[in-house]
Amino acid sequence: MINFVGETKKFKKTIQFYNEKMKNKDFSLLKFAQLYFGPYLYGVCHFPYTKRSHYVIKCRANEEKTNYPTIYTFNVRLNKTYNLIQKDAIYQTAEEAIVWLLGHELFHYLRATQQIKGKNTEAQANEFGFKCLSEFKNYY
Ligand SMILES: [Zn+2]
Repeated sequence: MINFVGETKKFKKTIQFYNEKMKNKDFSLLKFAQLYFGPYLYGVCHFPYTKRSHYVIKCRANEEKTNYPTIYTFNVRLNKTYNLIQKDAIYQTAEEAIVWLLGHELFHYLRATQQIKGKNTEAQANEFGFKCLSEFKNYY
């Protein structure tokens, strides 16, 4: 199970969705996934290095309802080639932004721990973010 920390009460659907989707994955190397609100959209997956033995994920989105829907543009691969194209992510709510971001950051973790296929690139992490958001929308 993913150890969710931060504003977990405000992201119950996100947590429920990922707990179900990721139930067969190993998160023993992920110290926590922090979900919280802040002025802008921001996500990071810290890899272990010298003094740290675990991965850490942080995802932040703007809480203000007036900011939604909002559009962010990301690079993805064109038909799984090396050519990149731009794709718009439309977030209706802060929770949808967090779902996309968390998918992106989880891809980095899952790829680094060899639990998912692909290469650990930004484009492929973006594609996983789009996939997770689309699944999330179908889930609810
Ligand atoms: Zn990334």
